Amino acid sequence: MNEQQKVENVIIVGGGPAGYTAALYTARANLEPLAFEGFQWGGQLQNTTDVENYPGYPDGIMGPEMMSQFRAQAERFGTRFVTDDVDRVELSDGGMQKVYLGDEVHLARTVILAMGAEPRRLGVPGELELSGCGVSTCGVCDGAFFKGKEVIVIGGGDSAMEDAIFVSKFASRLTIVNRRDEFRASKIMEARAREQDNISFKTPFVAEEFVAGDDGNLDHVRLKNTETGETEDFNAEGAFVAIGHIPKSEIVAGQVETDEEGYILAQAGSTRTNLGGVFAVGDVVDRTYRQAVTAAGTGCMGALDAEWYLRDTPPSPEAHWQRGGEPTEIAPTPGA
Ligand code: NAP
Repeated sequence: MNEQQKVENVIIVGGGPAGYTAALYTARANLEPLAFEGFQWGGQLQNTTDVENYPGYPDGIMGPEMMSQFRAQAERFGTRFVTDDVDRVELSDGGMQKVYLGDEVHLARTVILAMGAEPRRLGVPGELELSGCGVSTCGVCDGAFFKGKEVIVIGGGDSAMEDAIFVSKFASRLTIVNRRDEFRASKIMEARAREQDNISFKTPFVAEEFVAGDDGNLDHVRLKNTETGETEDFNAEGAFVAIGHIPKSEIVAGQVETDEEGYILAQAGSTRTNLGGVFAVGDVVDRTYRQAVTAAGTGCMGALDAEWYLRDTPPSPEAHWQRGGEPTEIAPTPGA
């Protein structure tokens, strides 16, 4: 840190719906946010095709296009973007927050953590290649595209059951494929899935490969019986991989309170973490809803929480922040 180092009001880490909404709100509050949106900005929506469930887009919108619009709206009000991945952060409880790009440090009075989550992948051939062409990781987002089609859902937890129950409203036949005969899902969710006439279960199988037909879309999934080792080709026009999510909280691990899976813990009804001046929004907090619209909603909450924190918390002498919103420079010590 040099003596002329600027102290930001707010730094946002993450460039998905939550981060961009936090940027929009803090920019409109004249807090001049600095947003590290990541090299692959746009978050999970960058890998999504049609988004039909975001209010305000009656004809739907492509995920990347929607993220460009979120970004442009935040930029219009003065958000400064850095399209790079943060290397590390040093979080403080009520003091100076430090965000590093390599050796370059950026200082702020508040930080909004919006790094998101990523779906856990099987890591088998065809899974990424056919993403958006029959293979999906989000039943709620993509289920309606499989009206009257044969679909499989891979996984045995609550997410798999929930995806299956939702997608079965559209699919003609849906098969839940799980690697064990027992299911990790809660009994009630499993029972609900079993109640659906068009849902059946196939265990103990894993997916070994997703295979496209001549039209480039998913045609079948090669399944392997985990006990006998035998394989079979299972026809499916849609496959939902629902084997959990991984919150992208590595850079704050050990610094802010998380649960055992790494989801950052925010106080109920707010985005405040256990550290003063540190807020967390979007999928890095949310293991339940995980929708673009819910992420955007918490992004707004994070921005307001940060704004109120700046308003109500006297600046530490370290920060040299002045009321009125303008970040100031630390004056050189006379004679230094
Ligand atoms: P989860 O509970 O961790 O379940 C993951 C499932 O995927 C397990 O069946 C697991 O099998 C399987 N799996 C993991 N890696 C696999 C692989 N490489 N190949 C094949 N199968 C694999 O994850 P989740 O279902 O996303 O749920 C996460 C948390 O959110 C849970 O606490 C859950 O209760 C909660 N949740 C709640 C709701 C709800 O209440 N409505 C909805 C969604 C999620 P094994 O069992 O063999 O490990």
